[in-house]
Amino acid sequence: MAVSYLEEKYEPVIGLEVHAQLKTQTKIFCSCPAGFSAESNSNVCPVCLGHPGVLPVLNRKAVEFAVKLGYALDAEINTSSIFARKNYFYPDLPKGYQISQFSLPVVGEGKLLIELEDGSIREIGVNRAHLEEDAGKSIHDRGPYTLVDVNRCGVPLLEIVSHPDMRSGAEAAAYLKTLRQILLYLDICDGNMEEGSLRCDANISVRLRGETKLGTKTEVKNMNSFKNVEKAINYEIARQIELLEDGEAVVQQTLLWNADKGLALPMRSKEDSHDYRYFPDPDLRPLQIDAGWMEEIRRAMPELPAAKKGRYISEMGLPPYDAAVLTQQPDTAAYFEAAAIHTKAYKELSNRIMTDVLSVVNDRKIPIGNFTIEPQRMAQLVELVSSGVISGKIAKEVFALMLEEKTLPEDIVKREGLMQISDTGELEKLIDQLLDENPQQVEEYLAGKEKVLGFFVGKVMRETKGKANPGSVNSILLSSLKKRG
Ligand SMILES: [Zn+2]
Repeated sequence: MAVSYLEEKYEPVIGLEVHAQLKTQTKIFCSCPAGFSAESNSNVCPVCLGHPGVLPVLNRKAVEFAVKLGYALDAEINTSSIFARKNYFYPDLPKGYQISQFSLPVVGEGKLLIELEDGSIREIGVNRAHLEEDAGKSIHDRGPYTLVDVNRCGVPLLEIVSHPDMRSGAEAAAYLKTLRQILLYLDICDGNMEEGSLRCDANISVRLRGETKLGTKTEVKNMNSFKNVEKAINYEIARQIELLEDGEAVVQQTLLWNADKGLALPMRSKEDSHDYRYFPDPDLRPLQIDAGWMEEIRRAMPELPAAKKGRYISEMGLPPYDAAVLTQQPDTAAYFEAAAIHTKAYKELSNRIMTDVLSVVNDRKIPIGNFTIEPQRMAQLVELVSSGVISGKIAKEVFALMLEEKTLPEDIVKREGLMQISDTGELEKLIDQLLDENPQQVEEYLAGKEKVLGFFVGKVMRETKGKANPGSVNSILLSSLKKRG
C-alpha cells in the first residue's frame, strides 16, 4: 500500500547514455585492429599510445556507421561536426585526453519508438549521438599493483544520449532492447553487453508529480544486462524516494551497480562537464560529410525491425507475437524470409521456426545461419504439412531425421512410409473394426458421454502410427458412431 502511495506521489525521471562499440576493422584514429585481442597491449601503435608528434586520421567507416544510426533514429545528421578533447588524467588514458565530440556531434536530435509490455508505444527522444574513442582498461585484481591494458584505446564508440523521457526501469530496459536491436540490424555493433561492446549508464532523479523542475540526479553505471538495468534503476528510484521521504537530500554522485549484492554503491563524486576542459582538437579538422555520400548510405539502409514486424503482420498475415519473435534477431528474420520464398504457408513456417528450429539452435548455441536444415528444405517440410501429405505430428519426426541427414523431406516421408492416410475408405474400415471391438465405449458415447470420442481418436492414431488425417478421423468417427445409435 505504501509503495503505490509513493508511486503516485513521486515521478521518476530517467535518461540513458549508451556506448556502442562500432564493428569497424580498425580503430577510430589509427590502423590498429579494433577487435578483441587476447594478448594485452598488442593492438597498439604510437597514435593510440599518444606519443608526441603523431597525428590522428579519422576512420571513414566509423562515420558511415554513425550516419546509419542517425537515419535509423530519424535524427538530424550534422554535415559538419567537431572533434574535441576531453581532458582527464587516468593511467588507462596515455594521451591524457580522450577524443570525443562535444558541442557539435555528428548526430543531433532524433527519436526511438519503444513498445511496452502492454503493447502501447512510447516515443523516447534522443538528444544526440557522437563519435569518440574508448579508453584502456585498468586491472586491479592481479596482485598488490594495478595493470594497464591499452588495447581498447582508440576503439571507436558511438555514445547515444537519450532525453530524460523514461519513467521506470522497465521503460529504460525496453529502450535499450530496441536500440540494441537496431544496432544489430544496421550491423554496426555486436550488441554484446556482457563483453562490454554495449554499455549503458543511467541518469536518475525523482520529483513530486506535477513538478516540472528536475530533481538532483545520480548516475548509475555497471549494468551489464537488461535485467540489471531494470533492477538497478528501480533500486535507485526507491532509494531516492526514501531519502526524500526522510527529509534528506539526494546527493549528486556516481553509483556502481553491484548485481551480486543487488545494490548500487557510490563510486566518486560526479565531475561537472566543465571539469573536462573540452576544447576542439587542433589535430582534427571539422568533419564534413558529403551530401552525395550521405544519400548513398541512406539508400543502402536495411529494413528496420519495426517496419519488418509491421510487414509480417500486414502482408504475411502473421500474429503480432510471431512477427515479434521472428524479427527479434536479424538472422532469424533472414532465415524466415529465405524460407518464405519457397512456401506461402507463412503461419505454419513461423510455427516450425519458433518451436523446432529455434529450440535446436538455442540448445546447440549456434547462429541460425549455420543451422543444419537450410531455409529451402525447411520450406519443403512446411509444404508437406500445409498440403496435407503429412500431419504436424509426423513433421516433428521428419524434422528430427532432417537434422541428421541432408535428405529432402519428401524423400524421407516416402522412405519411411510416413504419408498421411486421407483415404476415407481405408479409415472407415479401420474405424468400423475398432467400434466392433469396443462395444462398451460405443454404448457410453451413445448415452451422451462425448469424451469417449477421444478414446477412439487415440486408438485410430495408434493403429495408423499417427499417420491418419485428424480431420478425416473426426468426421468419420462421428458419422460411424451416429449410424450405430
Ligand atoms: Zn593504434
